[in-house]
Amino acid sequence: MTGGVGIGAIRIDPVPEVTYRLFPREFLFPTLTHEDAAANADWLAPGMLHPETLAVGMSFRSYLIRVRGQNILVDTCNGNHKNRPHAPWQHDMRSHAFLSALADLGLGVEDIHIVLCTHLHTDHVGWNTRLVNGQWVPTFPNARYVMNEAEFRHFEALVGTEGPRYSHIEDSVLPVVAAGQAELVPDTHSVMAEIGEEVFLSPSPGHSPGHVCIHARAKGAEAVISGDAIHHAVQFDLPDMMMRADWDPAMAAASRRAIMEHCAGSGALLCAGHIPFWTAGRISEGGQAFRLSPVEG
Ligand SMILES: [Zn+2]
Repeated sequence: MTGGVGIGAIRIDPVPEVTYRLFPREFLFPTLTHEDAAANADWLAPGMLHPETLAVGMSFRSYLIRVRGQNILVDTCNGNHKNRPHAPWQHDMRSHAFLSALADLGLGVEDIHIVLCTHLHTDHVGWNTRLVNGQWVPTFPNARYVMNEAEFRHFEALVGTEGPRYSHIEDSVLPVVAAGQAELVPDTHSVMAEIGEEVFLSPSPGHSPGHVCIHARAKGAEAVISGDAIHHAVQFDLPDMMMRADWDPAMAAASRRAIMEHCAGSGALLCAGHIPFWTAGRISEGGQAFRLSPVEG
């Protein structure tokens, strides 16, 4: 049981790196109140959102899209051996979970054809590279790494500023570019468009300047992989609540709400890699808020 789902002939499976970890409220939502937690206790307590401590449960999970013989990995979690002294929870990880999860799906690193980056934050590009003989090299030797050009240009310009804050660009993004494996694209890029199946990017800016969601469509059905446009299930109840790491909170809230409305209106599945336990879900709408219900693969 992998928790994966089928969209027509497209298969989408989770690739977990960290299945569950608690963070203090302030890590995500500084303004979240005990009243907010109490209002959502019926569906989120205690593991997703603790009613007393307000601790928030998170996962770190990529997704594998398989269609027409193409293996497409969406985001690459935190990665191993990365020097992140400013983020102890991801510093110098030594975990086999991510590559083991791919192996459980029958794939080695050489089998990935495309890596899609929803955005270029540190917990989404980690396994882009791995350390070999002291050098950061692309983990997936045969893959094209597809990134929104505007997102790349934004972060490229920040390398070397604010101490180690953008070191992940140096160790997890620039080596892919140096290896000639990066493909910089517009935020509406079509990854594949065959009769019956489509995989494409759509703009969802705000968490980062060039954040994109990944859509997979087949035979009228759709799944949306939402990257960091959505971090936590409580955001379905409070879609406009400020999230600490959003680059432009108002823009991020507008993108978040648009994705929720799109999925609620169309019946598209949502795949949100930071929501633990539920690897895919359906969104329903009521009043100003939404709910997510898990879907079993
Ligand atoms: Zn993230």
